[in-house]
Amino acid sequence: MSAEYILETHELTKEFKGFVAVNKVNLRVRRGHIHALIGPNGAGKTTCFNLLTKFIRPTSGRIVFNGHDITGESPAHIARRGVIRSFQISAVFPHLTVLENVRVALQRKLGNSFHFWRAESSLHTLNERARELLRAVDLGEYAGHLAVELSYGRKRALEIATTLAMEPELMLLDEPTQGMGLEDVDRVRQLIKQVSAERTILMVEHNMSVVSSIADTITVLQRGATLAEGPYAEVSRNPAVVEAYMGS
Ligand code: ADP
Repeated sequence: MSAEYILETHELTKEFKGFVAVNKVNLRVRRGHIHALIGPNGAGKTTCFNLLTKFIRPTSGRIVFNGHDITGESPAHIARRGVIRSFQISAVFPHLTVLENVRVALQRKLGNSFHFWRAESSLHTLNERARELLRAVDLGEYAGHLAVELSYGRKRALEIATTLAMEPELMLLDEPTQGMGLEDVDRVRQLIKQVSAERTILMVEHNMSVVSSIADTITVLQRGATLAEGPYAEVSRNPAVVEAYMGS
């Protein structure tokens, strides 16, 4: 355990009926970094994410967040600790406005705060905070638009805003640029870089131009195990990694 790493897994393992999908993975995510999890299809990336947010239970191994063993905790507990997976809680509601979508996320976060709801200024405060978050993801001018009207890239930006509303300390992003055109990829790439200034990001990402340009650390998985870990310049020259990608 160390303050340097916000998240550590120790020999994290998941078997499905004898098939080892994640095999003794020791992931170390440095606080403040953008950390990318990459690897060919079937490498175990999604399973890792599902283990981290406790959608599924590990066969063995431990997950330590901020020095606390969170292995047995419920998804809600893990979220309350500040590990938020984008698109986990907050699907975008297409027929609400962009502002309303963020407000719903904020209301979720504040849902249990009785005192907050007694305050007369609550709605005003919520709207202010929602607008602030929208400005942070460059959607300020879209506040009154219906979510359904947004481009794909802007929808993803909205999803990131709703995730930020949950105040993540560690934000997990599932293939944030998947299926996007160049312009949207660039928008989301910049956005991730921007929001990473105040939090740690762990993302599964296939787009190597995104990974190479913004990830501080990369973990390459292959058949459930860690093949390499380090900065892009190092990992991309690793013969085992080159082989894994050529062969996939
Ligand atoms: P990736 O996200 O890197 O493509 P996954 O984590 O989705 O990889 O899958 C890793 C391996 O685990 C794959 O071979 C997949 O078929 C297998 N797997 C994932 N989930 C299950 C499950 N619920 N039952 C059985 N096998 C699974």
